[in-house]
Amino acid sequence: MAGQGSSTAAMEEDKLRIEMLGAGQEVGRSCCFISFKGFNIVCDAGVHPAYTGLSALPFLDQVDWSTVDALLITHFHLDHAAALTYIMEKTNFRDGKGKVYMTHPTKAIYRFLMSDFVRISNAGSDRMLFDESEMLASWRQIEAVDYHQEVVVSGGLRFTPYHAGHVLGACMFLIDIAGLRVLYTGDYSREEDRHLVQAEVPPVRPDVLICESTYGTQSLEPRLEKEMRFTALIHSIIKRGGRVLLPVFVLGRAQELLLLLDEYWSAHPELHTVPIYYASSLARKCMSIYQTYIHTMNQHIRTRFNRRDNPFVFKHVSNLRSLDKFEDKGPCVMMASPGFMQSGISRELLERWAPDKRNGVIVSGYSVEGTMARDILSDPDEIIAMNGQRIPRRLSVDYISFSAHVDYTQNSHFIDEVRAKHVVLVHGELKNMSGLRAALQSRYHGRAEEVHLYMPRNCDPLFIPFRPDRTAKVIGALAEKPAAEGKAINGLLVAKDFSYTVLAPEDLAEFTGLGTSVIVQRQRVALNVGWEVVRWHLEGMYGTVQEGVDVQGVKTLRVMNVVDIKQPRTHELVLEWVSSVSNDMVADSAVALLLGIDSCPATVKMTMHDHACAHASPKPDERREQHFAFVESLSALLEAHFGQVEMIEVGGMTDAESEARPLLSNTPANTDAGARASPAPPATGEQHTPDAPTEAPAEAPAEAPLAHDAWATDGSAAPASPPRSPTASPPHSPAPAVSPLEALCNRIYGPLRAAIKVELDGEPVVIELEHLRLVSMMRTTSQSLSDSFHLIPPSSTMLFQGEHSEVELDEKIRTIDSDSS
Ligand SMILES: [Zn+2]
Ligand SMILES: [Zn+2]
Repeated sequence: MAGQGSSTAAMEEDKLRIEMLGAGQEVGRSCCFISFKGFNIVCDAGVHPAYTGLSALPFLDQVDWSTVDALLITHFHLDHAAALTYIMEKTNFRDGKGKVYMTHPTKAIYRFLMSDFVRISNAGSDRMLFDESEMLASWRQIEAVDYHQEVVVSGGLRFTPYHAGHVLGACMFLIDIAGLRVLYTGDYSREEDRHLVQAEVPPVRPDVLICESTYGTQSLEPRLEKEMRFTALIHSIIKRGGRVLLPVFVLGRAQELLLLLDEYWSAHPELHTVPIYYASSLARKCMSIYQTYIHTMNQHIRTRFNRRDNPFVFKHVSNLRSLDKFEDKGPCVMMASPGFMQSGISRELLERWAPDKRNGVIVSGYSVEGTMARDILSDPDEIIAMNGQRIPRRLSVDYISFSAHVDYTQNSHFIDEVRAKHVVLVHGELKNMSGLRAALQSRYHGRAEEVHLYMPRNCDPLFIPFRPDRTAKVIGALAEKPAAEGKAINGLLVAKDFSYTVLAPEDLAEFTGLGTSVIVQRQRVALNVGWEVVRWHLEGMYGTVQEGVDVQGVKTLRVMNVVDIKQPRTHELVLEWVSSVSNDMVADSAVALLLGIDSCPATVKMTMHDHACAHASPKPDERREQHFAFVESLSALLEAHFGQVEMIEVGGMTDAESEARPLLSNTPANTDAGARASPAPPATGEQHTPDAPTEAPAEAPAEAPLAHDAWATDGSAAPASPPRSPTASPPHSPAPAVSPLEALCNRIYGPLRAAIKVELDGEPVVIELEHLRLVSMMRTTSQSLSDSFHLIPPSSTMLFQGEHSEVELDEKIRTIDSDSS
């Protein structure tokens, strides 16, 4: 069950959740909750202009605000920012680690705007959302960011603001959540107006686009036509002696209209007697902010500013702090907030001017459903005043949209350019949104790459499953060569905060701060065989083995270009390799092989051959010298171990020759010994006959010493000849007492050769030097000899390989023949 639970969790984690807490199928109270891989982000926190108090807020209860990592505000409009103080001060957002971000101009204007908002909402109702001090306290905690600045919220969550046009400071947010990219547009415009730049298409392709749809499929007039119609309309109202009411929001479009009117007035001296009022104290304060952020505006404004022609110092516009100071006589142009005429100066003037048909109101922005700005557009005969009175409506009503939102053409082109696979429509009334979705659906119908369109309602979470493309950026030295189709790249893949890079191992430290280290493994193996044997085995297993020396000059065999095998001392091999999964495997196999060499029958055979083999052996002179030195050192060693050491001779028995041979004392190995002896065995004609001992006679006399015929296969020798005398006296001479061992030595088949006799545990043991064969009477003796020290070379293994050990004096006695296998 636990497994099921975790797999469900894993599936959920890979779903992007988008939930509209406001602005889902409506305009107003923008608030979009985005969650992916445990990261929670909220874009915008606005109020609904048609409602007051708590009901104007987004559906905040849908979210545990303490889990929100980042709250991003696109611009200062109330429907995007006015709920922020409430969230920061009145929810558990303050218990979490979440931060609030907006651009510098937005933060600057937001403060003044919110003071105004607090003042107006306090005056109008007792359902106050928050007061000025709360607003200021939270304002100080807002992090101001720059356009195009990548802000890392935490590992795996980052965002970048891009220009959105619309109003000063407005931005889109390109949010990277664990490698998934979401572009949230907020309100945006693609038309460069008098002061703002147009919205940018971010340089990277997002997976999801959350896009405003305010105007649905409507087309807005081209700017120049619209401006001409606007100024002409104002001019005509003035000519007929009327007053022009322009309900606007304090900031945003108001500044654009002021620039337009100031320009028009300059060009029309006949209008200079007609005042233009801007009824907002706030606007004056904010004008300094506009002047501060001229560098974020378009080229037109910056050029004028550089000519010391400050476009925001209007020549024909006067500020009006309050209506008390307004002398209402004759034609004028009055820009007044709020734009929706729900209350405030714009509403007061509307009520005052509505009955006079010479007057006119021009709605210049998007009017939200349920507001006076929307109601008046239906040309009602009367309007309801704030005090409930009915007032006849005779003034002219016109709608010329200067609202800086995209129309269908601009929006669909932008959506095309962004190329997101998932497009979520927000900030639009149901009718406009549905129209836009239908239009986009038919636009994308039949395209190879499917575009998914969504229009979620408020509090109706949308889940989009994602398997984000794992793309890795190639950097460093690897990026110097241009990539080619089908060409593989070799490098290290480094994953950090859900992003992946591929780089050359040498670049690792520079680009990632990570280091590399090489682990050299070393293992010692005790082994008694010679170098050649080791090589022979390695070659058998791995094919060619490289031979050389290491830095210290130690002979080294390199296996599979990976494992070095060295012999720093006799009896000891050292394996060295750079640790890695595959190298360790090769090393393991080499160790296993080396440990098996001692007991491998092939070793025995090979080692035996080694001495007879021409190309593996030294030249005869060298060999003699080596052998002599070896015998000396061996006897010294044996003496150290066993005390007394006696040099003797063994062998010399042929089938034809039954005469006794003297045992030579204190004589070093005599190479002539072999020459003096008859070389050929009787039966096979070969010197070394493995078969001879094993085909030994079945009936050796029970109490007699080993008979000559025990070694002869032809049976021609006398069956019970007496033991030969160690003094090499002829058979007829009276023989001194001969020990069983001596008797045995004398009866060893083959040429006469040197041997060493030692006493081990009171028992005599003879070691024949030519091939280091052991001649022993007792099993215990040979065993303890083998245990007590190693005879080298060849190894003790070889010595005890044969069946020499089952020896009783009166039984058959054999030595190992050098060819036995
Ligand atoms: Zn806006
Ligand atoms: Zn908006």
